[in-house]
Amino acid sequence: MTEHTKTDGLPGIDMPLAAAEPAARDVRGAGAKVECNACPVLCQISEGRTGACDRYANRGGALVRVDPVVLLRRTLESGAPELVPFATRAEAPAEWSGDLLRADEVFVTGVGSSTTYPDYKPAPFIVASQARGVDMVTVVTEGIFSYCGFKVKIDTDRFLGPEQANIRCKGEVVGHVTTAEYGSQMLSLGGVHHLTGGSKKEGRVTAEMMQLLGNKRAVELSIDGGSQVVVQAGRAPIVNGVEEQRMRVGCGSATIGIFAKQLLGHVDEVVVVDDHITGVLTEHQAGRCLDMRRSGIQMRGRKSTPGRYFQVANPGTGWGGTDIAEPLSIIEGWNPEVAWPGLRLLMTSTTGEHANWYVLDEALQPVEQAMPAAVRAVVERIGENCEPSLSTVLFLGGAGGSLRAGVTDNPVRLTRAIKQALVNVTCGGAPAYVWPGGGITVMADVMRMPDDSFGTVPTPAIVAPIEFSMALQDYRLLGGHMEYVRPLGEVLRRGAWHDDGAPTALRWARNAAGNPWPLGQPPLLG
Ligand code: SF4
Repeated sequence: MTEHTKTDGLPGIDMPLAAAEPAARDVRGAGAKVECNACPVLCQISEGRTGACDRYANRGGALVRVDPVVLLRRTLESGAPELVPFATRAEAPAEWSGDLLRADEVFVTGVGSSTTYPDYKPAPFIVASQARGVDMVTVVTEGIFSYCGFKVKIDTDRFLGPEQANIRCKGEVVGHVTTAEYGSQMLSLGGVHHLTGGSKKEGRVTAEMMQLLGNKRAVELSIDGGSQVVVQAGRAPIVNGVEEQRMRVGCGSATIGIFAKQLLGHVDEVVVVDDHITGVLTEHQAGRCLDMRRSGIQMRGRKSTPGRYFQVANPGTGWGGTDIAEPLSIIEGWNPEVAWPGLRLLMTSTTGEHANWYVLDEALQPVEQAMPAAVRAVVERIGENCEPSLSTVLFLGGAGGSLRAGVTDNPVRLTRAIKQALVNVTCGGAPAYVWPGGGITVMADVMRMPDDSFGTVPTPAIVAPIEFSMALQDYRLLGGHMEYVRPLGEVLRRGAWHDDGAPTALRWARNAAGNPWPLGQPPLLG
């Protein structure tokens, strides 16, 4: 960690240097300190040091953005240099000359681009290029988001915690459990209330957690009344120290429906244990359609419809997301008028990870026995149909505020142009879904964004890249900062339009696999 400078007095960060040394704001370029005004903290940065967010530094009396700006290239040759200085005020090396670049193969992302703050400044990069023969412009910035969070989908049946339960990181509340989806538990993390509405520590921990999560790193969370979970984008979740392997093939009822025919003739009854809907084959419509004889099984829980039972046990990390380790505990008994000695019973979870085979004895008691190979093959088929369990992390942020002033003098026109599908919004080049309704609320998969796309400032808030691409003609019509539009070649030679806090280097990255090329794409509108 680089040694930090003082700030101008944000509570809880450092002593207010500006109050103690009023001249500090005026010494920029004169030796001792420069002021960073890229966010409201207004750090006074000494020579050789960085500001409180580690993103800006004082190098020889000049304020610079420490990280390189990330440029995407459609095809990045192997062995190509990845980190290149902007050749400011000098001729660019031939290999980086705009003449030699195919403008439709390069996209300037907001990662490392610096920001428009205070918002009366035009965005640091307003880049002219061409796509499919059309003159385009991309407005590029690092947005400072207070209104933002992450929606996390965790592919697991296991009980993580009750809906609405608080989620903690380092003891601080940083989110809550939200509505479960099919085969997945959902978390809502971060957000403005945790960033700014609680204690200073809650805000700081929330921002740190969000930065790690957005940058595809692991975070450890504990859920009140539930589990400990380690979440990392693109990786399997770790629940109570155990790495999750499989996402269920479906609920218990669906599993019965999918595999009923394959089990016919090998079993007399099947119970698929599931925290949501436990399925019972001979009562289920699938078993009835196959003319299966009723088994007389009597289940615990609440019968929903034939062969479908709710609440057979409590939620947990055992069989099928319930708290049971002994599957027979969900069977209340057998109707002696219907059941028969020798009845063959398969009990399995929705992932096939747990499966037992029983045969009823003369007293109609299930006795566990070795599973026949034909039945084992179907259980393995259930497992084969389970997808690998993953954690998926989506960034959700509101860009409808003052950030728009970096794009246009008339911000509502940008909002309208986005809603009219004239503007493609991307985050670090990744496609961003724009929510319907007012404002510019965008959502992007962090796995499709460049590594280390996210930062923080100690206000606290999240720094995230955002780019607005549109036809040059439309940019003019929405009141864009036309005098700051520069061709790509010039951008590559000179860097950002302003010198204060401009990045000093660029880094090439390959467009992420599966991402549409950001220019010339229709936007993902809600
Ligand atoms: S952007 Fe970083 S360095 Fe600049 S004022 Fe804010 S916290 Fe300080």
